[in-house]
Amino acid sequence: MHVNFQDDAAKLLVNISHEFYRRGWMVGTSGNLSFRINDPGESLRMLITASGADKGSLTPDEILICGEDYDSISWQGKRPSAETSIHRSIYRSVPNAGCILHVHTVASTCLSLTTTTESNPAFLQFAEYEMIKGLGLWDPGAIATVPVFTNWPAVANIARDVELYLEAQQHIPAFLIRGHGLTAWGHDLSSARKHLEVLEFLCACAWENYRAGQRGG
Ligand SMILES: [Zn+2]
Repeated sequence: MHVNFQDDAAKLLVNISHEFYRRGWMVGTSGNLSFRINDPGESLRMLITASGADKGSLTPDEILICGEDYDSISWQGKRPSAETSIHRSIYRSVPNAGCILHVHTVASTCLSLTTTTESNPAFLQFAEYEMIKGLGLWDPGAIATVPVFTNWPAVANIARDVELYLEAQQHIPAFLIRGHGLTAWGHDLSSARKHLEVLEFLCACAWENYRAGQRGG
């Protein structure tokens, strides 16, 4: 089922992976990208990048199908991303999420390390930036609140924290993990990509401002 859609979706993930790699957002095999492929009401199924794949030379056979309990299956020696459980948590908590993009950018990684370790999640807040409209916040004076989750060694614990948070309150379609890049989603690839680019832009601005403040400038 959905054979053409799956083929097309895999190609889209391959193309955006190459582009993000060129932008320096997925170096050293980092990051992971997925599409939901189940219909509403069906159990969760997704296409997701394989673990350890070089994102600059990713090929369609490095996009794997994964579901609720397919973790132990190996596909011709490949395994789904080590962070598949985080994608699963987002898809379960956000029914209209159709695509998830997770990348390791310099600005989001550096900025996340400026937040407190006293709470999980910690929060970054972005106000005044015109770009927060891109996260769906149109009210004058709106503030984009971005959670920063603890980067537990066991990914399942990160996934648990993400799911608890997303199910408990209103949230923007993106978050950071401390020292570990950013994740954004949308109903399709272009909306997920927009949210990712907007949050990366905000992180880059805030990181510039933070460094200027450190210099006293
Ligand atoms: Zn990661």
